[in-house]
Amino acid sequence: MSQSAALVLFSGGQDSTVCLAYALNRYHRVETIGFDYGQRHTVELDCRTTVRKGLADLSPVWAERLGADHVCDLKGFGQVSETSLTRELEIVTDESGLPSTFVPGRNLMMLTFAAALAWRRDISILVGGMCETDYSGYPDCRRSTLNAQELALRRGMDRPFVIDTPLMWLDKAETWEMAFDLGGNGLVDLIVESTHTCYLGERSCRHVWGYGCGSCPACELRASGYRKWKGDLAA
Ligand code: ZN
Repeated sequence: MSQSAALVLFSGGQDSTVCLAYALNRYHRVETIGFDYGQRHTVELDCRTTVRKGLADLSPVWAERLGADHVCDLKGFGQVSETSLTRELEIVTDESGLPSTFVPGRNLMMLTFAAALAWRRDISILVGGMCETDYSGYPDCRRSTLNAQELALRRGMDRPFVIDTPLMWLDKAETWEMAFDLGGNGLVDLIVESTHTCYLGERSCRHVWGYGCGSCPACELRASGYRKWKGDLAA
């Protein structure tokens, strides 16, 4: 079991791109896994190849460490889990405070698939962009949930899995700052130009913080984080 190999849950979005850069800095062999669960838009999945290549172009060390990419077809899960990410529903908040973009069980399932693949690939570290600070009310982004799953995976697969969540306690401005610290303006530019976060799959409008509709919850978080980060740098 290699302690210096990691598998990154990589969607092609801003957060998982920062996680991939973090892993490439820290671990000697880094593989990526992506999931197609019947999202309404495949824009994020399409960004994955571009971003992986962009990261390899930024640093020879990263290029050498970046290993295989794996894409899991989980469309069956999309059928079970009908939400506004997999169906054309308006994004609203329900009476319990959960947004309709919440996909029940998604992170739990992705981490289980990732661990099964990691087991086979002789990898013990799983890296994910879950974040409790900007977590939009998703209960499976909490560190306490991930601690419980880490324990379940260790017991269930008899391997010393670690779920590494470098963004857990950062807000979106700090995530931009982390990208800058890891890869300078080159990485910030790659994130702006090539990653995708918008829930509506909108890529026709380019803002200073990247592409998106500008008004869905994901765009609003990304944009306000970028503005705060730029403001902090100027201060
Ligand atoms: Zn949007």
